[in-house]
This record gives sequence, C-alpha cells and structure tokens, in this order.
Amino acid sequence: MPNPGDCSICEDPRALDINEALIIERRSLRATACQFNVGREALRRHRNHAPELLVQASRNLKLQQQETLIHRLEEITTETRAILREAREADEPDNRLALMAIQRLERQLEFEAELLEVIKRKPIINVLIAPALEQALGEILYDYPEVHQDVVRAIDRVRLEIDA
Ligand SMILES: [Zn+2]
Repeated sequence: MPNPGDCSICEDPRALDINEALIIERRSLRATACQFNVGREALRRHRNHAPELLVQASRNLKLQQQETLIHRLEEITTETRAILREAREADEPDNRLALMAIQRLERQLEFEAELLEVIKRKPIINVLIAPALEQALGEILYDYPEVHQDVVRAIDRVRLEIDA
C-alpha cells in the first residue's frame, strides 16, 4: 500500500473533490480521470488505498466533519431510495432504473463494508452501518429477496468479523 505522500491524487489540490466523485459517488475510473484530467492508473492506485486513508483521516477530523461525511453517505442513500420508490411506483414501473438504484445501494454498502474491514484491523470500533440504514435497506429490498439476502449476508459477515 503506497504512502499518501507517494500518491499524486492525494497530493492534488482537488483531492477532496476527486474523493467525492470516486469514492462517495462511486464514479468509474474512466469518468473521474476524464473529469479531473488525471491518469487512470494513478486513480486506481488511489482508490485502492482510499479506505485506509479515510479511516486515518477520520481520526484526525473534527467530530463535525465526521458527521458531515456520514451525513453525505446518508443523503446519497436517501436520494437513491427516492429514485427507487419513483421507479417502482410509477404507472409503468421502470425496472432498469430500479436496478441501477439497487446497484448503487449495493456499492455503497460494499464501501461501508470495506471501511469496516479497515477499521477492524485497527483497535477502533465504530458503527458505520447505522440501524436506520440497515432497516431502510431491508424495506427497499423487500421486493428483491435475492438481493436482500446477499445484503443481509454481507452485513452479518462484517459483524462477525468485528466481533471476532
Ligand atoms: Zn492517494
């Protein structure tokens, strides 16, 4: 794992914006590279060490900034839920849109699981999957039992690892 000092993206003055696009919004390497005019390979390396960086950063962040980050994640979840609800409740349900929304939620959950994985290796216990978020996911995925099961399993796996 490279040190932040070796990473051109970490040192980029637009690092915060790049992180928002790449990590929180989970844009593709290609789209992000294009948007910020940086190398895809540098972005890929940066993304690989991003969970570690985020945890490190969260230790140094003031509480308010941590809350902002969590709030932003929750905001994205809320937005995605709204999209999903609209797609499902429209007169002509838009399955493609619903699937995209679910995939986005899955990626977010995956990212939270990655974060938990990093935190687990450190002597810090933090709860990143808030009960409200878990419940929301359950409600959203009620109509998609297979996806729901995968999500529940992923959460349980992370929990078991934390408790171990
Ligand atoms: Zn980096």
